[in-house]
Amino acid sequence: MSVEASVWLDALGARRDAPAAVRAMLASDGALEPLPIPQAREWLALHEEHGQTFDDFVRAVVRPPAEARTIYIQPVDTAGALSDTCLSTLAAFTAAFFQLKVRVCPPLVLDPSSLVTRAAPDAGTPQVYAGDILARLYAGKPADAFCVLGITAHDLFPHPIVSFAFGEASATCRVGVVSVARYGPPFCEDAPGRHPGEMRKRCCRVIAHEIGHMAGIAHCIYFRCLMNGSSSLAESDRRPLHLCPVDLRKLQWLTGFDFTERYSRLHEFWHAAGEAPEAEWIAGRLQVAGGMGVNLGARGPD
Ligand SMILES: [Zn+2]
Ligand SMILES: [Zn+2]
Repeated sequence: MSVEASVWLDALGARRDAPAAVRAMLASDGALEPLPIPQAREWLALHEEHGQTFDDFVRAVVRPPAEARTIYIQPVDTAGALSDTCLSTLAAFTAAFFQLKVRVCPPLVLDPSSLVTRAAPDAGTPQVYAGDILARLYAGKPADAFCVLGITAHDLFPHPIVSFAFGEASATCRVGVVSVARYGPPFCEDAPGRHPGEMRKRCCRVIAHEIGHMAGIAHCIYFRCLMNGSSSLAESDRRPLHLCPVDLRKLQWLTGFDFTERYSRLHEFWHAAGEAPEAEWIAGRLQVAGGMGVNLGARGPD
């Protein structure tokens, strides 16, 4: 049984004030994806979360100043793990998703002696304390940054009692870091590069999720959504690459993007990436949201 309509309608806030593109999702085939009952060891079976309504979000979050509209992506100790081409692709996705300027910074190599490390409790492999990287990113945060997102090959732990984290972010400081360490052996059967599409989707998913947290968006409990929590790679892989209407409304309130422009650029990205299901989902939203004038036929889903 999924979350009752009365709960998510309340989470969406006053519908008469919601952007037309958000209201259109409520009546659009396939736009609302029910959240299944969590299975044993899935995020919501392990964590009691109460959800963040649109009104909660507006009360808690401060819109960034007009000059702070750049997302900085900072590679941290990524030598050999992420190519420049890969970083450019992730930057293009990030720019389309958030409709903000994105800059990829020169790689940062940290002094190992400046990092708290340990052996991962589940695998025995080396891990780095995420807070050390966040502190370093915050110390160098540019004045015009909407946020700074580190991307690293280190496996991360966010707290001594937590086994690992795919990413960690501070909404207050708007710095975050994601790790690609668990997207390949020994944590995952797939070698990075053997399935470049899967690796790309995992990176896009975790980047958008952590930047979503930096934007002040908490975990989603209303629908299947990019902002759902996850406690394993398998659960993470099941998360959609897009936001539910509740979280889409929050992001649009924060940055003021144009829906048609955003959907057009996301459609272009996923179509070029050969990800037909995601391109089709975006195309559906674009058409319902009033994406008239955008010629999807020329670059439509496969
Ligand atoms: Zn999260
Ligand atoms: Zn959501």
